[in-house]
Parts: sequence; C-alpha cells; structure tokens
Amino acid sequence: MTQNASSKSLAGRTALVTGSTSGIGLGIAMALAEAGANLVLNGFGEVDGAVSQVLATGAEVAHHNADMTKPEEIEAMIRFAKERFGALDVLVNNAGVQHVAAIDEFPTDRWNAIIAINLSSAFHTMRAALPGMRERGWGRVINIASVHGLVGSVGKSAYVAAKHGVLGLTKVAALEYARTGVTVNAICPGFVYTPLVQKQIDAIAERDSISVEAARAKLLAEKQPSAEFVTTRQIGAATVFLCSDAASEMRGAELKIDGAWTAQ
Ligand code: NAD
Repeated sequence: MTQNASSKSLAGRTALVTGSTSGIGLGIAMALAEAGANLVLNGFGEVDGAVSQVLATGAEVAHHNADMTKPEEIEAMIRFAKERFGALDVLVNNAGVQHVAAIDEFPTDRWNAIIAINLSSAFHTMRAALPGMRERGWGRVINIASVHGLVGSVGKSAYVAAKHGVLGLTKVAALEYARTGVTVNAICPGFVYTPLVQKQIDAIAERDSISVEAARAKLLAEKQPSAEFVTTRQIGAATVFLCSDAASEMRGAELKIDGAWTAQ
C-alpha cells in the first residue's frame, strides 16, 4: 500500500544517518525515508548506489562525506544538514568498524580508529545537533550500539569498550534532555548480516578451513540462540518506532534486538 505524503509519520522531518552507504545504516535510511523523512546520508564506498536506493522511496536525499574520525568534518556535516533542509530532527549514530585481535596483539592505530568512529563521533554529532533540537522542542537521537555494549566477547576489546561507552553516553544525553521533547536511545543488535559481519565469517572460514556457509552457521551458533541473523530492515523499523509519539517517554533505553543473545 502506498501512503500519501501527509500520512507518513516523519513527513517534513530531516534525518541524518552516519555510515549509511552500507549495511544497517542503509537499512535505517530506507526505513526513515519510507516514513517520509528527508535524508542526509554519510559514509564511503557505494555512495551512488545508496543515494539511488533512498531516492527511489521518493525522499529528498543528500550525501555528506565527513570522516567520523574528524571532529571538524562532523561539525561541517551537521551544519550542512541544517542548511540543506532547514533543520535536523533525527540523528542516527551508526557508523562503525570492527577489528578482531587479542589485547596483547591489538594494533594501537586500530584501537584509536574504533574508539573515534564507534564512540567519539557520537559525542561530536550530538554536541552539534542537540541544541537545535531542544530549541525546536522535538528531536530524536538513536545510537546504534550492540549487544557488545552489554556483554563482552574475546578479541573485541576496542569494539566492546566503544559500545559500552556509547550506552553510557546515551544515558547521560537522555538525562540532560529529559525535560525536553528530545529523546536519546540506543539499539543493541545481535548479529546482523552485513559486510562488517561478512569479514568475520570469512576469517572463521579461513581459520577453520571450512566453507563460508559452515562459518556463517558457526558464528551464529556461538552466540545467537535463534540461529537467525537480525535484518537491517528490522533495525530500520525499530528506529522509526523510536521516532514515534508512542516512544516519546522511552529515554536512555537499550533496545535489544539480538535473537536472545543476551538472554543467556
Ligand atoms: P558496514 O561495514 O556494513 O557499514 C559501516 C558504515 O560505516 C559504512 O557506510 C561505512 O562507509 C561507514 N564508515 C566506516 N568508517 C567510517 C568513517 N571513518 N567515517 C564515516 N563513515 C564510516 O557495518 P554494519 O554492520 O552495517 O554496522 C553498522 C553499525 O551497526 C556499526 O556501528 C556496528 O558496530 C553496529 N552493529 C553491527 C552489527 C552486525 O552484526 N552487523 C551488530 C551490532 C551492531
């Protein structure tokens, strides 16, 4: 069923999704666009493909190339969103990278990059975006954390530290804006099938000399009781829900979508 513009829940709103040229970020951008929002995409790689996919929903779309390791580029991106669409209403901090190695073998440059992209970038975007949301009396910030914000896994020190940090940052921002129309929440996905996870599947296949299919099943069997991947569209739908009036008193929440990973 097609909806007309006025019946779409986010018609007239502008959303920015960091790291939205791929995977979960693109799934979220699609869901927000289908709900009527104008979209600012960000990220590297398949930029044209991502822009065309989101444009096909009928949304207005722009892309900004800010590198999430660079605070001045992040600030320029938030200014760009406001100038291009008049305001920034929905901010999704999603950009993230992974590196798997034991602490005593973990390269320092990978540690620094993961903390910068997966954690500090969310501070820089919020710092620049939250005051405008408060002034206009409405805003939504959704931080894409992870089950690794709640529990650890061997080999993922930087990622787990960054994601625990994202949940702490989410709580503080939710408290600081608790008396406003601006909510700040986190989503904690389990394994979602994306290029980030494909790299881990390929590494298991190589390490254990097994097929990619067997490595996929092994990865899920180790952690995710449902033995199914979460989908990027499910994360997108949860993001749209967090933007709804029904979610206006969800503040500082950690929404787990993890196939029962953290129920164990
Ligand atoms: P992905 O590799 O498919 O996409 C990552 C996106 O981030 C891409 O658009 C990439 O261009 C962008 N990016 C990377 N470095 C950047 C930088 N320096 N500046 C700007 N953009 C940059 O990854 P994904 O699996 O879709 O992960 C997205 C988010 O979801 C991450 O924060 C990740 O930690 C989180 N997450 C993923 C899973 C999973 O199973 N895939 C589970 C839990 C949480």
